[in-house]
Amino acid sequence: MLNCGSSSVKFQLIETAGDAGPTDRDRKLLTGIVDRLGDHAVFRLKSGNKTAPAEETLAAPDHDAAVRLIIERVSLTAAGGAKARAVDAVGHRVVHGADLFTSAAVIDDDVLGQIESLNELAPLHNPACVSGIHAARKILGASVPMAAVFDTAFHHTMPQTAATYAIPDELSKKHGIRRYGFHGLAHRYSLLRYGELSGTPERQINIVTLHLGNGCSACAIRAGESVDTSMGFTPLEGLVMGTRSGDLDPALVSFLARKENVDAAEVERWLNERSGLRGLSGLSNDMRELIAASDGDPRARLAVEVFCYRARKYLGAYLAVVGNAAAVIFSGGIGENAPAVRQKICAGMEWCGLILDEVKNSSTIGAEGSISQSGARIQVYVISSDEEAIIARETARLFRRDAS
Ligand code: ADP
Repeated sequence: MLNCGSSSVKFQLIETAGDAGPTDRDRKLLTGIVDRLGDHAVFRLKSGNKTAPAEETLAAPDHDAAVRLIIERVSLTAAGGAKARAVDAVGHRVVHGADLFTSAAVIDDDVLGQIESLNELAPLHNPACVSGIHAARKILGASVPMAAVFDTAFHHTMPQTAATYAIPDELSKKHGIRRYGFHGLAHRYSLLRYGELSGTPERQINIVTLHLGNGCSACAIRAGESVDTSMGFTPLEGLVMGTRSGDLDPALVSFLARKENVDAAEVERWLNERSGLRGLSGLSNDMRELIAASDGDPRARLAVEVFCYRARKYLGAYLAVVGNAAAVIFSGGIGENAPAVRQKICAGMEWCGLILDEVKNSSTIGAEGSISQSGARIQVYVISSDEEAIIARETARLFRRDAS
């Protein structure tokens, strides 16, 4: 599995039976990252059974060099180690599939061309994925099949009413403007894992998932399908995030451009990179630092409050959208590790049957499990997100089907 970002390439070597068995049967043989691409990139590699990753600094100026390095090291390790494995297939995470891809796709020249054509819709995200795919195809050749697994695909089931912006219809049609939604791999994993933990068949699952990491999004899932999600045309809409503003009055874009004498693209960059927790606090985009600073720093406290309030509003809205939700799921670095944030988001919702168990909530940090009172009408779970497992499963499913 390769996950190319603008300045890093994450990778995992995963043994999976596809969607045939429970998610916890998937085995992570190797996990790693080439971070801070450049002359002094950091390469970290961890084998499944070791807790501390090995780390070295080396030159990996671009995606091509990073992917080459990963493939060399992964095959070296596999050849030298006791658990030698050949790579059967590579799954690439692709952020934007737009309307062209509603499920994972086998990568060939046509598919790669289609993914490239989406660079304009996702200029901050897709070009890195495209470079990674080119690099892997060049280095591995045609013998290793590859799949593209899209962050948008899970949301293709969103009804038109949830996916449509109230702007002139001809403009939407002309430019392919609609709400696409992102973080689909994370929301889908929460769905699968909740099904396993609660013993509920996928098609009967009604839940609200809150994926809170650096990027944050909420998803309303009814009958096992995404029916609404908080990110939209780009991953900027919705919740307050590490550096992204989420929802705001769109008039602010031209107002700020005028007042600060910059163009709209610059304001958009501020909304993506200088806003959210970082912009509010003036201190950090890291929730850990903000919680630690909250007592003495009013801006840090406000940042945490605004973050939680926005998530709470979406939770309320999506409970209305789903109708008969059985559970709320927290995932992502913040969702999994910050009991205080979960508590603020869920406080005072006894009226709808959502009641946290204080002890379970405060003791569930970086672990999976139920954190609601037993018997509460709406259960609350923490689930450790595993987007890579979804990529591996989708890739395995695709090639098994292709072979049959
Ligand atoms: P990404 O979206 O980049 O995958 P993560 O899911 O790793 O990000 O989430 C990163 C966020 O999780 C950061 O805001 C970080 O502060 C937060 N986080 C990680 N550990 C904790 C913790 N123990 N308490 C509070 N927040 C945490």
